[in-house]
Amino acid sequence: MTGHGTTAYQLDPDHLAELLPGEPRYRTDQLREWLYRHPVLEPEEMTNLPGAVRERIRGRLWPFTLEIEQSADDGRTRKWLFRTPDGASIEAVLMGYRKRTTLCISSQAGCAMACTFCATGQFGFERHLDAGEIVAQVTYANAALRRNPIPGSPERVTNVVFMGMGEPLANYTYLRDSLHRMIDVIDMAARSVTVSTVGVVPGIRKLADEPWQVGLAISLHAADDELRDTLIPLNKRYPLDELIAAARYFFETTGRRISIEWTMMDGVNDTPEQAKKLAEISRRLRAHINVISLNPTPLTSHRRPGRLAIQDFMTRLEEHGANATYRETRGQDIDAACGQLRIRGAEQKGTT
Ligand code: SAH
Repeated sequence: MTGHGTTAYQLDPDHLAELLPGEPRYRTDQLREWLYRHPVLEPEEMTNLPGAVRERIRGRLWPFTLEIEQSADDGRTRKWLFRTPDGASIEAVLMGYRKRTTLCISSQAGCAMACTFCATGQFGFERHLDAGEIVAQVTYANAALRRNPIPGSPERVTNVVFMGMGEPLANYTYLRDSLHRMIDVIDMAARSVTVSTVGVVPGIRKLADEPWQVGLAISLHAADDELRDTLIPLNKRYPLDELIAAARYFFETTGRRISIEWTMMDGVNDTPEQAKKLAEISRRLRAHINVISLNPTPLTSHRRPGRLAIQDFMTRLEEHGANATYRETRGQDIDAACGQLRIRGAEQKGTT
């Protein structure tokens, strides 16, 4: 599937011959290996390809250029802001742990969902990313890791989460193609790829019917329609009972437990009542709850709760029989909140 250009990743992996007209078949097979299985940052590193072939790929390898790179947590968190030739921004964050190297990727430039607490949502929608732009975030990270591994973490991306910019299930066709390439071409385990959604009900059902056992995370953040309507505009279109039914369908069809994401906001969704309702939903879905604190964004009035409020909320979840983990967020000092690096990039260019 071709998208917004004809760089190598924007061609279907089976149609790479278009990039190398007149070359024998085994050359395109070699190129495919370099692109997906052993990615490198520069064509010069594709050692078994002749100079003339590498020359043809120069400038057509990556669908974007690196605009900003930041690192935090002693280099175990790295954040990239990429720029496409048409000016769209793409964010990805790499996080090294002892047994996992997790990459958080974007599925759209901007986002149309307009959630009140999210920096990306406040900026609006630019465009969908095509499958090549999505998968190239993973291969770029693998190429960068090869050059500069994270000490003590796997030297390849082991886990992918669609928790960067965008709503993946609102970009279904390209999401699907990017999953196909990660799972069938790069050979990643489907179970190590997690699609995160704010609740695009038809997309959840379609994803459940795909042949892969990918993970699904639901960004719930509110446990009744009254509160959820105020935080997540999409809730008016797909209210909680429809979302929960779709989540159940996903669990029953794929056999994979979903996870519920809960970003705590002071005085908003940290109340005993929300804890009780959240616990009920999670028990019905047999889902695990991941709780984090809000990363404050420039344009929102929401605040993160204090430590005691967080502890109290977690205790209540446990008392109501829920399975929940509180996680510290990574990369606090590098604009880690959704969409923030993009804002920084715009500030540096003087456009905000
Ligand atoms: N649209 C998808 C994926 C992108 S957002 C989704 O909503 O799931 C990835 C996660 O970051 C979501 O759980 C989202 O709610 C959360 N998030 C967005 N803004 C945040 C903020 N300012 N602080 C903490 N988490 C945030």
